[in-house]
Amino acid sequence: MVEQTYRCTNCLAETVTRTFDVSHLSITCEGCGEFARFVNGAVYEQFREFEESPPEHLAWEKLSRAEKFLVSNGVVREGRSIEDFETGE
Ligand SMILES: [Zn+2]
Repeated sequence: MVEQTYRCTNCLAETVTRTFDVSHLSITCEGCGEFARFVNGAVYEQFREFEESPPEHLAWEKLSRAEKFLVSNGVVREGRSIEDFETGE
């Protein structure tokens, strides 16, 4: 059985595992107590990569955390190119 890890987007510390693979869960975090979005581990890894080396054509640091995860999700799970995303400047 394959387990997928999901990470709290509020505290970025708490993780849960589930035996299904979806883009995110919305559950109450046992770490920070928030009813938070938990993103797919693969999406979180992509988010970290962008944090370390932001895509040049995006004003990455100006995006909200939710927007960053939305972009990361699009790249990882929808097969979109980072070039497809614009920050609308
Ligand atoms: Zn949390």
